Amino acid sequence: MTEKLSTECDFSYLDENYAVIKENIAQAAVASGRRPEDVTFMAVTKTVAPPPINHVISLGVDLIGENKVQELLSKLEFLNTDRLRMHIIGHLQSNKVRKIVGIVSGVESVDSISLAEEISKRCVQSDCKMDVLLEVNIGNEEAKTGFTYDGALERAFEIAEMPNINLRGFMAVPPICEGDTVRRYFAKMNGLYLDAKEKLSGKAIIDTLSLGMSADYADAIKEGSTLVRVGSSLFGARRY
Ligand SMILES: *Cc1c(COP(=O)(O)O)cnc(C)c1O
Repeated sequence: MTEKLSTECDFSYLDENYAVIKENIAQAAVASGRRPEDVTFMAVTKTVAPPPINHVISLGVDLIGENKVQELLSKLEFLNTDRLRMHIIGHLQSNKVRKIVGIVSGVESVDSISLAEEISKRCVQSDCKMDVLLEVNIGNEEAKTGFTYDGALERAFEIAEMPNINLRGFMAVPPICEGDTVRRYFAKMNGLYLDAKEKLSGKAIIDTLSLGMSADYADAIKEGSTLVRVGSSLFGARRY
């Protein structure tokens, strides 16, 4: 028996997956006292080829996330970018910043002051602005970069002052957890987000809390996430 592979033109699985995800997002938003449109959907497109990406764009997806600069740039000419916004969501080396300024509208994985300074400097040179989220290493995991939870607010004050940077909030990827213990990490991040929203008012408009991936986006929304980053439950398991 041969496995039925999705062919180039049969993207109906994407229609179905996207419909299910949209419905789950809507339900979780309502459960958290918000409207479905209060939660931004990002399609995470790492390892995904341009044709399926263009298909989800045709379904209404207007924000994609990529981890690697080189991968994004190599796909760019094949993507329908007319209404598309792009964010970097993976660790970004300072020497790659100049390649993405003017192309992506946001970096969600700002994990050091020096990276923020480089983004600021390059955006000043190019006369453009960059939306920035601070990545928080919420589980204090050694393998992950990011600001500490305790230090994030202070760093947010510093970064909010940098020219041509729009500090919008925070992003986190919690440790892999059993059951719904992940919700405690999300709730903690929401505490930081609400605190920053208040304390930074007048300095930055803090309106984005980027939490939740395929396995846990509904829980993340219930704990206050405003942006979910979904890859494999939309496109299928990644093949590296
Ligand atoms: C890969 C990735 C995602 C998407 O993960 P899925 O589990 O496939 O939805 C979201 N955020 C970041 C930072 C990622 O690297």
